[in-house]
Amino acid sequence: MKLFYDLHLHSCLSPCGDEEMTPANLAGMCALAGLNVVALTDHNTSDNCPAFCQAAQKLGLIALAGMELCTREEIHVICLFPTPQAAQPFSRYVQDRLPPIPNNPEIFGRQIHMGPEDRVLGEETKLLAAAADIGIDEACTLAARFGGLAYPAHIDRDSFSLLSVLGIWDPNLGFSLAELSRNAPPHFSQQPDLAGVGLLTGSDAHYLHQIPDARFALEADQSTPQGVLDALRRRSF
Ligand SMILES: [Zn+2]
Ligand SMILES: [Zn+2]
Repeated sequence: MKLFYDLHLHSCLSPCGDEEMTPANLAGMCALAGLNVVALTDHNTSDNCPAFCQAAQKLGLIALAGMELCTREEIHVICLFPTPQAAQPFSRYVQDRLPPIPNNPEIFGRQIHMGPEDRVLGEETKLLAAAADIGIDEACTLAARFGGLAYPAHIDRDSFSLLSVLGIWDPNLGFSLAELSRNAPPHFSQQPDLAGVGLLTGSDAHYLHQIPDARFALEADQSTPQGVLDALRRRSF
């Protein structure tokens, strides 16, 4: 079945995510946008995924638990898991490899951890937007080891992207997918080194108004998180 997706969304736990991006608000806006499959991908954490997935499922959405990992090289990588429970050990692993830099909410923004019904559980004190001590050459196999799927984010952007940092698409890194931002130039996907790479599009929304109407779809055999991950692995989109 055809499922409209957005697999790159930030909540108020990301320091740069707007405080109105609560899990319930985010899920509600995704439903209004006509999306069927959504993933919460805060910077270096999946800790708001339990609340988000619950809120999204209540609205009939297929919700994946995710994270936008920032590697040692400052390359952003989308990591997706079928459930918040599956994402949790990976989230702990990544947070254990973040530098002990405290967040300064005045500069970077608050990092608000939320539970069901948008109950505030507290604020994360460690800066989540830092680079984890995990290499880009580890990311693909590491996510797979934890039962997830990883691919580089917004590769068309000038910063925090695989191509801006490394300069080339290196197939030895093991990624079979990559994400383009919504405003990637049309010719971007035609470059020869991306031949054979499955290209998804994500909104990277940090504000409610940045969640665009559904446009990009994948074709899944089953309307479940695992069915979506299977569709991504076989590049059925
Ligand atoms: Zn990013
Ligand atoms: Zn992002």
